[in-house]
Amino acid sequence: MRRSFDSEISMSRPFLPPLQLTNRHRLDLVPNSTAQTTRIKAASPMPQNGPLEPGEWKSFLHELRSFHGKIERRTKRDTLDSLVEIILSQSTLDSLSEQAYRSLKSSFPSWESAMQAGPSKIEERIRVGGLSRQKASRIHRILLDLKIHFGELTLRPLDDMDRKTAWEYLLSFDGIGPKTAACVLLFACGRSAFPIDTHVSRVAYRVGLLPKQTATVQDHERLRLLVPRHQHYVCHRTLVLHGRALCRPSQPECTYCPIQSWCRHSHCPARRSLLQG
Ligand code: SF4
Repeated sequence: MRRSFDSEISMSRPFLPPLQLTNRHRLDLVPNSTAQTTRIKAASPMPQNGPLEPGEWKSFLHELRSFHGKIERRTKRDTLDSLVEIILSQSTLDSLSEQAYRSLKSSFPSWESAMQAGPSKIEERIRVGGLSRQKASRIHRILLDLKIHFGELTLRPLDDMDRKTAWEYLLSFDGIGPKTAACVLLFACGRSAFPIDTHVSRVAYRVGLLPKQTATVQDHERLRLLVPRHQHYVCHRTLVLHGRALCRPSQPECTYCPIQSWCRHSHCPARRSLLQG
């Protein structure tokens, strides 16, 4: 399974692949009931860019959470540890990035020693995770910059910055884009942020929360403001799960989708039958 930023998270029950859907899911989610058709008609067309009404958010998230199961947070890690872990997770598998992170941490007792060792030594330690030269150079540059900015290798000063300043500070580093910055703020700092990976972008676009299937700085800000603050974490995580499990790039499993009544995607059978009928 591809990784996004999920090492912070564990699920209370394992991922449910579409072929193991229960009869309850099938009966509840096949879009041929009058109630569902009424809901689709009432919601159609989904207003471009949302927002969902507060009551709708509740049912939208409820449907997703009922389907994908409860999501639990793991203990928070040090913010700099989290940032390095997120950088290592880019464009690789969960298992490989975890190996790379463990190798790095066991090779260097402190970030200070990693900085002193230099990018080539860091690269050796993280090779298993792929893109090791690029990631090592990025990590080393960040360590140097933190030393210059704060006199020590820490990201704790983020906690004393207002959200906007912390966001812009993270984005000022080479190689840190809006997704990584949002992950750090949400997962490590517990701040308001809504990371958009490829799954979130795809599902959010299909249900009308984003005008395009993109993940720009503006998209991150749009979803951060659109989704109620206390639901950022759960909504982000369930959209990632939904994109992996059902709402895949091609041939999504729309028949079993718990949020198909909000969907505008052409694959959605409920949408198709509504348009035809
Ligand atoms: S109905 Fe299909 S396309 Fe729409 S959100 Fe569900 S799985 Fe994705």
